[in-house]
Amino acid sequence: MDRTQGFYHEREAESANTRTARQWNALQAVVARAASFEGEFRERLATASIVPDEIRSLDDFTSIPVLRKKDLSRLQREKGLPWFLSCAPGTLSRIYQSPGPIYDPEGREPDYWGWAEAFYAAGFRAGDLAQMTFSYHLTPAGLMLEEPLRALGCAVIPAGPGNSAVQLQLLQELPVTGFVGMTSFLRTLGEKALEKGLDPKRDFSLQVGFVAAERLPESLRSEVQDMFGMVIRQGYGTADVGCIAYECRELGGMHLSGRCYVEICDPVTGLPVQPGETGEVVVTPFTLDYPLVRLATGDLSRLSEAPCACGRTSPKLMGILGRVDDTAKVKGQFIYPSQVAAAMARFPQILRHQVVVGNAGGRDSLTLRIETNGPVDTAAVAAAFQETAKLRPAVSVLGLGETIPEGGPALVDERTYD
Ligand SMILES: [Zn+2]
Repeated sequence: MDRTQGFYHEREAESANTRTARQWNALQAVVARAASFEGEFRERLATASIVPDEIRSLDDFTSIPVLRKKDLSRLQREKGLPWFLSCAPGTLSRIYQSPGPIYDPEGREPDYWGWAEAFYAAGFRAGDLAQMTFSYHLTPAGLMLEEPLRALGCAVIPAGPGNSAVQLQLLQELPVTGFVGMTSFLRTLGEKALEKGLDPKRDFSLQVGFVAAERLPESLRSEVQDMFGMVIRQGYGTADVGCIAYECRELGGMHLSGRCYVEICDPVTGLPVQPGETGEVVVTPFTLDYPLVRLATGDLSRLSEAPCACGRTSPKLMGILGRVDDTAKVKGQFIYPSQVAAAMARFPQILRHQVVVGNAGGRDSLTLRIETNGPVDTAAVAAAFQETAKLRPAVSVLGLGETIPEGGPALVDERTYD
């Protein structure tokens, strides 16, 4: 079985111009539907003094204030779910509840959450037997990812999470070729199999895995791929909007899905950042029953336009680089803990580090505290920091007996505004 060739949708290989035109058509339909009823979107536009008819270009569209994911739960409580819906709740397909709590309505269109192309890109094909280990209870994960598999022509074992003994029995007794779930759980299953004297490579039939919902370090991916002799690819999405991006066989980032419009934006202003810069992932899915226009996910990433050998033409999301809540804006620049960590990794003498932002005397200050096990060139450390974060910090080397607590915050914002 060839798991590497072809696309699920022709649009995966469309030209940039075709994509822009298609996306703009889809966005106009979403805006028209969202503005067609008294609800969340109309109120957001009215608050910003925007008239729906005046949204005539992508530039107009990106000036619509974002809807923050963290406000979604509160607004659903205050206003009720129907305030967000363009249809009667009883005409939907399902309503899930994800942590927040947030209600996640699902419409009746086939492949509503858009994961089929992601599974195809990962290498799932008709005839695969997939073991689904995401939960089917209340949260959308299990069903959201099962339906596209069945649409592709795969069979699914609705195993749900946990219960390792039964999971192993399924893997041993059935010709399971695909795994869907969290990589850490698959590793646990592999370890338990090894403890029982089984060889996950020889005794199981797994060939392909689709994982999501947690960070996937390359070390964990290789470990599990080697353990089972399989290929692991990841997808990125949320319970509110479904699939946003996914890896192909070539790796090097996650292709943006064709079923939504993705922007990378300044977390404060909500306006798109320059191409290639880091910012917040803002998503508008092209679904109409529950229109979420410019949903700000709180996740940080950046886009790469580099061509991919797989033939898919959409830009790639370069991993999830952290959460907006863990960043601070200092003198007009965002400080991202993941970028600081990458810069600090170049200095083996630095055991731990912490960024402290203050504003004593009304002026923003930036201090990088480092805990070391040997002499370190603080000017070189400051320069490495400045290379990624644009700003030069004051570097403070902790004295003997001073320590940064294990698991302490990577960034502390001590600024006060009164
Ligand atoms: Zn690709």
